[in-house]
Amino acid sequence: MAIRPILLYPDAILKTPSAPAVPGDPAVTSVIQDMLDTLKASPGVALAAPQIGHAVQIIVVDVSRKKGETGHGLVVLLNPRITHQEKERIVREGCLSVPDFTGNVLRYGKTVVEGLSPNGVQTTIEASGFEALAFQHEVDHLDGRLFLDRVRSMEMDVFRRKNF
Ligand SMILES: [Zn+2]
Repeated sequence: MAIRPILLYPDAILKTPSAPAVPGDPAVTSVIQDMLDTLKASPGVALAAPQIGHAVQIIVVDVSRKKGETGHGLVVLLNPRITHQEKERIVREGCLSVPDFTGNVLRYGKTVVEGLSPNGVQTTIEASGFEALAFQHEVDHLDGRLFLDRVRSMEMDVFRRKNF
């Protein structure tokens, strides 16, 4: 159990496609715990395992960390796959691994994600709105993809965050 540093772009692990996770494997259980500790200590709503240095297919999402959002509360998914999406839209997105920028990317307002719970139970989540975007973003991380890889134009669609 530990808070881990969040890897930043352009760290090579963020570009690496992740390997499937085995439910109940002690190494997997330990990565999940570190992800939960790290998420809690971060300003974000979700994390993927590569962001703390493990190229393994695990995501944690908890949009209730954002004011006004509830979604499904805390969700931990192993080997998640997006099996359906609809309501295409352009959204402004950020990432804990790309802290200085946001970008306009194509996403979907509704998504269905299938994966395994930490104990290996097959799980299907139907998410909409902000939570749907969070799942799409985290599944991208497992494919080694950042929002920067999805913008149409680095000049027109990427924005530097304002300093305080
Ligand atoms: Zn991210």
